Amino acid sequence: LLFSVICVLACSESRKDAVQNNEEEQFINELLSKMTIEEKIGQTNLRGTSSRTKVLPEELKEAVRKGEIGAFLNVMNLDYVDELQRIAVEESPNGIPLIFSRDVIHGFKTIFPIPLGIAATWDTEVAKVSSKIAAFEASGAGIRWTFAPMLDISRDSRWGRIAESPGEDPYLASLLGAAYVEGFQGNDLSDPTRIAACAKHFIGYGAAIGGRDYNTANINEPLLRNVYLPPFEAALNAGSATVMTSFNEVNGIPATGNEFLLKQVLRDELKFDGFVVSDWDASIEMIAHGFAKDEKHAAELSAKAGMDMEMTSKSYEHHLKTLIDEGKISILELDDFVLNILRIKYRLGLFNNPYRSKEHTGDFYAESHLKEAKNAALKSAVLLKNDNILPLKKETKIAVIGPLANAPHEQLGTWTFDGEKEHTVTPLDVFESQKASFKFANGLTHSRDTSKKGFANAINVAKQSDIILFFGGEEAILSGEAHSRANIDLPGAQEELIEALSKLDKPIVLIIMAGRPISMSNILDKTSAVLMAWHPGTMGGEALYDIIYGIEEPGGRLPVSWPKTAGQLPYFYNHKNTGRPASKEEFVGINDIPIHAWQSSLGNDSHYLDAGFTPQFPFGYGLSYSKFRYDNLTIAKDTIGFNEDLEVKVTITNIGERKSKEIVQLYTQDVVGSITRPVKELKRFKHVVLESGQSKDVSFTISSKDLQFVNSKLVHSAEEGDFNLWIGSHALEGLKMSFYLKE
Ligand code: BGC
Repeated sequence: LLFSVICVLACSESRKDAVQNNEEEQFINELLSKMTIEEKIGQTNLRGTSSRTKVLPEELKEAVRKGEIGAFLNVMNLDYVDELQRIAVEESPNGIPLIFSRDVIHGFKTIFPIPLGIAATWDTEVAKVSSKIAAFEASGAGIRWTFAPMLDISRDSRWGRIAESPGEDPYLASLLGAAYVEGFQGNDLSDPTRIAACAKHFIGYGAAIGGRDYNTANINEPLLRNVYLPPFEAALNAGSATVMTSFNEVNGIPATGNEFLLKQVLRDELKFDGFVVSDWDASIEMIAHGFAKDEKHAAELSAKAGMDMEMTSKSYEHHLKTLIDEGKISILELDDFVLNILRIKYRLGLFNNPYRSKEHTGDFYAESHLKEAKNAALKSAVLLKNDNILPLKKETKIAVIGPLANAPHEQLGTWTFDGEKEHTVTPLDVFESQKASFKFANGLTHSRDTSKKGFANAINVAKQSDIILFFGGEEAILSGEAHSRANIDLPGAQEELIEALSKLDKPIVLIIMAGRPISMSNILDKTSAVLMAWHPGTMGGEALYDIIYGIEEPGGRLPVSWPKTAGQLPYFYNHKNTGRPASKEEFVGINDIPIHAWQSSLGNDSHYLDAGFTPQFPFGYGLSYSKFRYDNLTIAKDTIGFNEDLEVKVTITNIGERKSKEIVQLYTQDVVGSITRPVKELKRFKHVVLESGQSKDVSFTISSKDLQFVNSKLVHSAEEGDFNLWIGSHALEGLKMSFYLKE
């Protein structure tokens, strides 16, 4: 009976989909048949307009009236939104509604931690809830399409946009990608509180050589398919309505003019039926790339590749008609672009409901939104070091120091156009409101400040205290687009201030707010504890206060490896072995290889003489306020067939003194492959909460599907052979067993 109920439900769901698809296709095809070529080209035009214009320019209204614009970005004046939509619906030839779009990246008004911080939660529910709230607030401001989630795997912390990324791991990034899409879009895009997602940047943007933004990406096809593509696949399976091309070239061909990527991979293989938008001016940037001769050629290459909508530049607007007249692009190709765009407008319900609902105002900064923003900040903070200092006791006399203790705009991080700093709760705000026993001196006015004028005051304040809390890191502008750094240490005179404070012989707790891992090789030994808060968003101050005083646990684990120095970059845990693997492949402790100590003892391994091989902190790493022991790793069998599952079990015990949370991580290694395989790959993880002294068996199931990869013949399958498996608390630690996969 249960089976037939499930079948009836599933069948009726798919019938509903099919019927809707039929209606949808009929509707958009009929509409298309009434459109002139000019109107069709108009649909491909995503126009930017300055939110600061005092009056809505007449020529813009006229362009909408003629059907020359399909969508807008960054129209922030609600009267303009209403007026432009009215003109489109009532006065343009076929009354096709516009879509209004915006970069709603980690919150709209209520700002959540930066996406790299959300990734540090290892919690898909947090990703989903944060994007649902972002959609709710943004749609209240007339926005129905966001340019998120960003799904670029990032292996290089110099890259400024690592802040906006899901980190370095394809499995974690895929789970997050799907969750973001579900949060933004819900089950029904026509719900006026939901917005269309945009999986970006397709593809390889995070593989920029040297971490320099926009730089060339060389990604061989197995690497593309095994590492860079999975998060996009997951986002598309979750129904992402749109995809954005990336600025970079991939193997010599800019992504925006890349037929292989946009047609073969995206449409033929991944069956994407939404629309592809270029990144900002990316079509005409192909001229500077040395791929297009001029604007007209750029339009031709973009159209041939399958770019449906052009952001801001006007190569389609200026040249698509001529290209069609000359027979270089067929009208059917243009029709496809238009159908893809109309399909999403249809799904957004815009044909029935084009106008912003006056009742739905977005409830900006609602209590429930702030609560979730705080929860996300709590779960994203990663405790990197703790010499029994944290949590603090309430009566301890504290010196609150550093440029980010009270920097309401900076703690919001990159890509926060709409979050207002007046709503930010800084750490200092909370210390003040809680009447904690503390004194404050920032020491430096901002993160890049090199003046030592404030040192004396900071030292004086520190002298009167038992413990120093140093809120340091990067101001918001130091990460994000076009904000790569060659050095990734604490900027300005922060290291010098920490050095000066360390002379007082009082414990220093370093709380970092930054868009990337920060190299700490010069100062780590001067600290007693380090807490990575990322840019924690609107509610960062409250979350950090609760963690510092032990009201809550620091919940995060690193979604990227944390290098000792920028010279180790790119660094990622799922690398391959060389013929001379480093002898210390197993992580033996945080300071296993002190920087600046020449490591002749490491022999002839693949390593840096002055930085060793291991990172400062590995992927997956993060302390809690308790300790966990892993025992009894068992696997149900030591050989599995291609169609069999493997049950894996381990016992986790909380051997510390308080209730705490652990993220149990399972990694595998395919020992020998037809192409060489990574030393480890994350396959599963689970959040476990245990009381002090409590033990629990944690089990996982994996199958040969989890062991599949794309090999040199571009075949996606698992290969017979030996596998290692680890369960532990990060990528470089764990109990280990082996099994055999038999065909
Ligand atoms: C960025 C995109 C963003 C777009 C619109 C570009 O510069 O690369 O990620 O969505 O601008 O603001």
